[in-house]
Amino acid sequence: MARILITSAIPYINGIKHLGNLVGSQLPADLYARYQRGRGNEVLFLCATDEHGTPAELAAAKAGKPVAEYCAEMHEVQADIARRFGLSFDHFGRSSSAQNHRLTQHFAGRLAEAELIREVSEKQVYSNADGRFLPDRYIEGTCPNCGYDKARGDQCENCTKQLDPTDLIDPRSAISGSTDLEVRETKHLYLRQSAMKDQLDAWIDSKSDWPVLTTSIAKKWLHDGDGLQDRGITRDLDWGIPVKKGDQDWPGMEGKVFYVWFDAPIEYIACAKEWTDATGRGDADWERWWRTDKGAEDVRYVQFMGKDNVPFHTLSFPATILGSGEPWTLVDYIKSFNYLNYDGGQFSTSQGRGVFMDQALELLPADYWRWWLLSHAPESSDSEFTWENFQTSVNKDLADVLGNFVSRITKFCRSKFGEAVPEGGTPGDAETTLIANLTSRIRAYEGFMEAMEVRKSAQELRAIWVLGNEYLQSAAPWSNFKTDPDTAAMQVRLGLNLIRLYAVLSAPFIPDTSARMLAAMNTLDASWPDAVDAAVSALDAGHGFTVPEVLFAKITDEQREEWQARFAGVRS
Ligand SMILES: [Zn+2]
Repeated sequence: MARILITSAIPYINGIKHLGNLVGSQLPADLYARYQRGRGNEVLFLCATDEHGTPAELAAAKAGKPVAEYCAEMHEVQADIARRFGLSFDHFGRSSSAQNHRLTQHFAGRLAEAELIREVSEKQVYSNADGRFLPDRYIEGTCPNCGYDKARGDQCENCTKQLDPTDLIDPRSAISGSTDLEVRETKHLYLRQSAMKDQLDAWIDSKSDWPVLTTSIAKKWLHDGDGLQDRGITRDLDWGIPVKKGDQDWPGMEGKVFYVWFDAPIEYIACAKEWTDATGRGDADWERWWRTDKGAEDVRYVQFMGKDNVPFHTLSFPATILGSGEPWTLVDYIKSFNYLNYDGGQFSTSQGRGVFMDQALELLPADYWRWWLLSHAPESSDSEFTWENFQTSVNKDLADVLGNFVSRITKFCRSKFGEAVPEGGTPGDAETTLIANLTSRIRAYEGFMEAMEVRKSAQELRAIWVLGNEYLQSAAPWSNFKTDPDTAAMQVRLGLNLIRLYAVLSAPFIPDTSARMLAAMNTLDASWPDAVDAAVSALDAGHGFTVPEVLFAKITDEQREEWQARFAGVRS
């Protein structure tokens, strides 16, 4: 039995995510986790909310709530939606947890001992009215280049000129609007990534099985220009993990917190301790996944993320882990995704454009969305959601191919033989051929799933469903029933067994439907079909079943048009 540690990039706390976010990390990670569990492997699947930073503070202020309260509420909202989408995390943690506080401070302490942290004095804008330093993008003013009056301290959105806050004419706080600003000197900690360049380079070189896209992004950051740069790991904010060296105070860093990019990936590890703490397990149970000196030598660690997250996961987080000098599990494989666009443009939270996770579930059950998103995952390039394509995919793949197969065979059996697997007849050449075809397709499906080729896996699964329909069409038990009822019985028996087989194979993609199919077949046997001939005779003659409700309802043209208009958003 293999042991596989799976993490999905952790979603930011300030709002409900759209379908593009979902398919960019959490959903394919769930597909892989469910598949590996289905194969009998031991899986630990972790995700969390990313809760620190200025955007969370501002979202809380806008909601009129203390930031801790806001984050606790939004975490529950995101956890609930994740559950309803069938995301099978072993634990859905929080980067603001006490466990992550301790572990982040621990890593900072180790890095300081290894002399991989240096102090830097910086000049930063302080707002007297807000009582805080302002990040560059929270300072607004008039652009010196084009005169746009809402230019940000880092860039003018109107003319795209890169700016420093001090370039702005009449600068003001984007939080309060106050113009009572001054430049103050402040000290920050920097992680000396430059000192770890060779070590990271050698580590990336050892990953010969990584996609070129992943290693080329890492190599670019390592070597372009002056090479890998040191990065600030602290901020002058209230909300975050207080800067400490392990459990010791850090002189000169009082009142400062770690920068969100430093503590967020450490939450992958802290989340495992949250899991053992929440479930009454001991530390040994999470350390055997994360410490190679405590049982994790044989763990394979796979991360899922959008392509924009690759630099953090190939360089910054490994720099933290390697720099600690401690035997933590390092990532073995990174599966990254391009972007999903929405109907000729991009998803937009501010313009209400596109479908968000909560809205999707108001329209249709999770499996409809899971199937479309995974079978159109943006792997080799960006992909696009259109309502026409969604309608076609649901109606053809799910309703016509899978749903119709299940409905047809169960209803026919009920009307001619009753609600039990019929007895009699002997399989012949057609059945031998079907089993051979199923075997080769199932082995191909396993290969694609193992390689995390999401789209190809979906295509293969659909082809496996099609084989059942084609068999039923040519075997035609409804014709045989009049002249040769034994042969019809054998064909129906095989068809009913295919429903169980399809439930097992389809569970990673459409878990709720899979569970309904197994329930209809009145079986708990979800064992993987290592031998297909045995798998298609698992349900013996006489085994009772029930005809399930329609598995997938078709999407009508009226629904499609209504939804298209409803989610078009307000273009500004
Ligand atoms: Zn401008």
